[in-house]
Amino acid sequence: MATLLLTGAALAAGAQSHFDDRFLSYPTYNGSDLELAVTPEATRFRLWSPKAEAVRLNLYNEGTGGRPYKTVEMKADRSNGTWTAELPGALYGKFYTFEVNHDGRWLAETPGVWAKAVGLNGQRAAIINMAETDPEGWNEDRGPAVKSFNDVIVYEMHMRDMTMHPTAGAEHKGKFLGVAESGTKNSAGEATGIDNIKELGATHVHILPSYDYNSVDESHPELNQYNWGYDPLNYNAPEGSYSTDASKPEVRVNEMKQMIKALHDAGIGVVMDVVYNHTASNDDSNFELTAPGYYHRHREDGSYSDASACGNETASDRQQMRDYIINSVKFWADEYHIDGFRFDLMAIHDTETMNQVAAELKKIRPDIFVYGEGWTAGDSPLAPERRALKENVAKMEGVAVFSDDIRDAIKGHYSNEEAPGFVQGAPGQEETVKIGIVGATAHPQVDYSKGNNSKFAYASSPQQVVNYVSCHDDLTLTDKLRKSMPEATDAERKRAARLAQTIVFTSQGTPFMFAGEEIWRDKKGVHNSYKSPDSINAIDWDLKTAHHDQFDYYRELIKLRKEHPAFRMNSAEQVARHLKFDDLDTEKTPNLVSYSLVDNANGDTWKEIKLIFNGADEDRIVEVPEGDWKIVATDGKIAADGSLGTTNGGKINVAHRSATILAR
Ligand code: CA
Repeated sequence: MATLLLTGAALAAGAQSHFDDRFLSYPTYNGSDLELAVTPEATRFRLWSPKAEAVRLNLYNEGTGGRPYKTVEMKADRSNGTWTAELPGALYGKFYTFEVNHDGRWLAETPGVWAKAVGLNGQRAAIINMAETDPEGWNEDRGPAVKSFNDVIVYEMHMRDMTMHPTAGAEHKGKFLGVAESGTKNSAGEATGIDNIKELGATHVHILPSYDYNSVDESHPELNQYNWGYDPLNYNAPEGSYSTDASKPEVRVNEMKQMIKALHDAGIGVVMDVVYNHTASNDDSNFELTAPGYYHRHREDGSYSDASACGNETASDRQQMRDYIINSVKFWADEYHIDGFRFDLMAIHDTETMNQVAAELKKIRPDIFVYGEGWTAGDSPLAPERRALKENVAKMEGVAVFSDDIRDAIKGHYSNEEAPGFVQGAPGQEETVKIGIVGATAHPQVDYSKGNNSKFAYASSPQQVVNYVSCHDDLTLTDKLRKSMPEATDAERKRAARLAQTIVFTSQGTPFMFAGEEIWRDKKGVHNSYKSPDSINAIDWDLKTAHHDQFDYYRELIKLRKEHPAFRMNSAEQVARHLKFDDLDTEKTPNLVSYSLVDNANGDTWKEIKLIFNGADEDRIVEVPEGDWKIVATDGKIAADGSLGTTNGGKINVAHRSATILAR
């Protein structure tokens, strides 16, 4: 989630930063027994709260309501800033909260920051036996192996969007279990949900926030409340509204695992959207209620700094918070078999934290994919050179960033709905499209001084870039094209969408798409639909039948990418050597970008692949070397095997607003 972007260039102008060293003297604690550890003999609690004057533990029989059946004064361990308590036996089925006395005042009850299971609305932590939440076959469960992150094809989805519409044909609408359902069909009998993703060929889903978030009242599922979930409450427990019974702590854990297993069984990896950069509340956040002042950054006047534009920002540059983020993603990778993490507003975190995140995940599995938004949504006390910005990604070897360069160049500015880009026929986007094509790596034929969003080659390898033209934020591609091409027909806009995604899916880097765009999904023109009802957000799966031509195009495009390693080169050097742009006069023929992937790039079976993108609303004549070319794409059609015909090259016609791809 990020509608406001502040990148390095903007920051250089007016950045404020100060280093808050108050917390350097705090003892930290990084043990895996933080907050709760259960053995058959005892249930042990250990809360980190170094400045607390006293801490109480409350034990409950219920997840909500009632009174504690027992309250225990916890003991201070001043050496590491923790408070401990121990009770005999394994207290499975019970709930607990902590209360911290700070500056002579008792703060509100909190489940702590490490609750791995919670009751209704995440108000109390739950003591459950995690091993009993594993679905059958969980020990053998694993996501698809990934050789190169550029082999990944990301499909970004929200739980409810996938299954709420009647045409989804799902039994468990809006739930983890709904996404897990196979065999679901739309009114015309065509595959929806997980089967649709398989048919399309995406390798990974990227699930919007699925940890326990704050905004949806879990006690009223019948109200069908909707939220994207960028308002974190409990980072280490699943969201209750996606489970069939939010009042039973083990149910959400089990059902999320069932969903992940179903996706894995279908050969699909699972990337989780994580939002450690801010909390839903300020003073009432679990961070603030356990260790006041520590986990968030502040301005010099003591107010919460707000680089998230959501009211606060966290402080990954402090040891206990850094360890928290690292341990939390490790927990999701271990316990839930998560295959990748997408960091929201990643530049609120420091580069050192992100490097440690990537390194620690690599120890669990070397192919866990880490990427994020390389920007903030406001200024931060963290110095710009320490931020995990897009511009600093070369300092973060195992981390990738979204390319806003390719996004905005292809379709026009994200926040200006009417603004056109390359595929609508706007001039001046060609060089930025080229920056996208080379995955923001250094290339002798790309002039970064002409880049719209970036002025230098920020990625040290294409593995560090995620290419996309749209996501859950802002308008869907369909809506953007409707607003920016008001006079055009939908048929013409669909051509523009095909061209847009052809550029994305043939570019160096990892391609990413928003769920449903393959069937011409829209959100009725709503750009910030974070709490819009299902009537705006849910995918109408009958669109698949109405726009089957669009689906077929996307499927073939993905097939093309998967079958041809030339689109998935692994290093900047390889790209510079094997990707050759054609010299075109952008004054005379704007909206035209043409290049070749040469010399069996990256071991490709094709010696040369020629790609010509024409964003203009008129045909162009382009000179192609003579030879025996197979036609892979032309005039809004595509066939991965090059079966659309042949040409001998020379002067060829490149149809308006479409991609021509030739191979020999
Ligand atoms: Ca919740």
